[in-house]
Amino acid sequence: MQDNLYKWIGKSENFFVQALVTLFIPTFFFHRFYQKQINLFKKAILLLSFDIDFKEDVKAIPKLIEELSQYDIKAGFACVGHWVKKFPSSHKLIVEASHEIINHSNTHPNNEQTNPNQFFNQLLISEIKKEIKEADKIIKDYLETSPSGFRTPHFGHLNTNKIYPVLKELGYRYSSSTLAIRSDSFGAPFIHPEGIWELPVTTCPYHPHSVFDTWHSLREKGGWHKKRDSFLKTFDKILNFAVEKRIFINIYFDPKDMVENRYSKGWLNILAQYKNDLMILTGAKIVEKLNSI
Ligand SMILES: [Zn+2]
Repeated sequence: MQDNLYKWIGKSENFFVQALVTLFIPTFFFHRFYQKQINLFKKAILLLSFDIDFKEDVKAIPKLIEELSQYDIKAGFACVGHWVKKFPSSHKLIVEASHEIINHSNTHPNNEQTNPNQFFNQLLISEIKKEIKEADKIIKDYLETSPSGFRTPHFGHLNTNKIYPVLKELGYRYSSSTLAIRSDSFGAPFIHPEGIWELPVTTCPYHPHSVFDTWHSLREKGGWHKKRDSFLKTFDKILNFAVEKRIFINIYFDPKDMVENRYSKGWLNILAQYKNDLMILTGAKIVEKLNSI
């Protein structure tokens, strides 16, 4: 009964439900919701990834790769065909450093720099196929690697069930395109009828219905966690909770924000503190482990 109540609140689109939770019981709800996860790994797991959505993100790749290598962390990079084709050498750095490439569509609909006038969930099935297949081909041709994961541009509300048969046809193993708070698994990985794993994205402890990314933290409405300490402290809070409750969390950031001097290294130092108790894995590795359990 209680489980259903938490699921109902998580899935609620009602402004007043979301506002009441955010104003009065955000962290209480966040903790209660996520600790209901059944984590098959029995250990805290972090899926860390980055979305290369804008030209500024492409420019940030070399510095980010360098910093990740200093901390010996492997991550996923959701890449857009349009940018891979335009800047193949920057994207090659990702592959050369043994990070994982995730298919993030060909034009990233609803992006002012690549395709401002379309929305992914409103595309025809043929257009969705084209978006996924063209990005897949560009990644294979230019980067000589085969992606096994996909992330819907802007995911969440712009995700659509139309992607899963296409992913199956292409032999993909997973998607990371939904909000954890809307999942029946309380944010744990779950499998779609097509056999594709879904790795839901974790939300913010202070705004449980919003994803905890740099857009939410630093940009949306001036940034909900703009103060240096607030962004990093919230990140620390999520990691601490994941370790304490041994749950699965999935966090992605925009590279352009993470290499800025005010955050650069700060977030990696926080992550390093949890290294003994938190497994940091890419999506492909997580799915490999899930399939062997
Ligand atoms: Zn927040």
